[in-house]
Amino acid sequence: MLNQNIGQGEGVYISTYGCQMNVNDTERMLSLLEMVNFVPVDAPEKASLIIINSCSVREKPVHKVHSEAGKYRQMKEKNPRLRIGVGGCVAQQEKAKLLKDVPVLDFVFGTDAIDQLPELVARAYDTNEKVVSARFENEKPYSVETLVRNPGVSTFVNIAKGCDNFCTFCVVPFTRGRERSRTLKELVSDINALTARGVKEVTLLGQNVNSYESDCGADFATLLETVARDTSIERIRYTTSHPKDFDQHLVNISAKYRAKICDYIHLPAQSGNTEVLARMNRGYSREQYLEKVKMIRDGIPGVILTTDLIVGFPGETAEQFMDTLSLIKEVRYDNIYAFK
Ligand code: SF4
Repeated sequence: MLNQNIGQGEGVYISTYGCQMNVNDTERMLSLLEMVNFVPVDAPEKASLIIINSCSVREKPVHKVHSEAGKYRQMKEKNPRLRIGVGGCVAQQEKAKLLKDVPVLDFVFGTDAIDQLPELVARAYDTNEKVVSARFENEKPYSVETLVRNPGVSTFVNIAKGCDNFCTFCVVPFTRGRERSRTLKELVSDINALTARGVKEVTLLGQNVNSYESDCGADFATLLETVARDTSIERIRYTTSHPKDFDQHLVNISAKYRAKICDYIHLPAQSGNTEVLARMNRGYSREQYLEKVKMIRDGIPGVILTTDLIVGFPGETAEQFMDTLSLIKEVRYDNIYAFK
């Protein structure tokens, strides 16, 4: 049986890189570690347990882990109780290699091993052995309870994890595994529990929310409708949408429950050129993307529309880049997140 006092009231510090999914994962890690008597602290110097929740998306991700872990070497020499672990996408990719390359580390855990964290930390303390857990769990549906320590008015709720799309520029299918959705029933009960704790707004999270599919066959639009109709949550946001899966049903539900479902849609185009989109394996052409924009604007007048764009995708010509500029002019986004 797991020792409920692994932390002995000492501090845990987590440094978080990357997206909202990682921010949400950090909250889950802290909730789990509080249950075994760790106390979250705001500086590594105050901690007996340090976790780097890593991200693979931006430049030199492995180097960032090496360099942050390196900063803790002296602290570890002075504090024999200090344990240091790495989670997140770099941990999932590198696995045991990280332990070999960064000797100061005690444990490495992948994106599907978060719920094992108290057990892994206990092993790191009790046996002093280096621990790795980075296997993907593939059973469907994926089942969790949202863990939030002090929910404010707004909180994240994971509806699905992983991605099956394999866009050629993206590492997520390799770091988060195959796509798996939580059940509609579990999500409704989770959101009811959050509203009972005072939460007014939820952001439904998934790598591609539009491909959500409950065990009962409910799609993402049905999930939104059920949450809007059957729970007392006041506002619903979601991220991220994939243009190829954004359909009329979702537009209709968004329009019908506009009082609850935020009329803000992030629709990542990535490029305005069909050839580049094909090389990105995005599953839509420029024309099909523009049709989706029209469908959304016709169904939800005044909707806020934002996008992601990649500039300088390998092999992109100046002419192809001009197509992205013309897409921007044609769509007239409310905001753009551009990456190169
Ligand atoms: S849909 Fe999103 S998460 Fe999935 S591979 Fe493409 S960019 Fe990555």
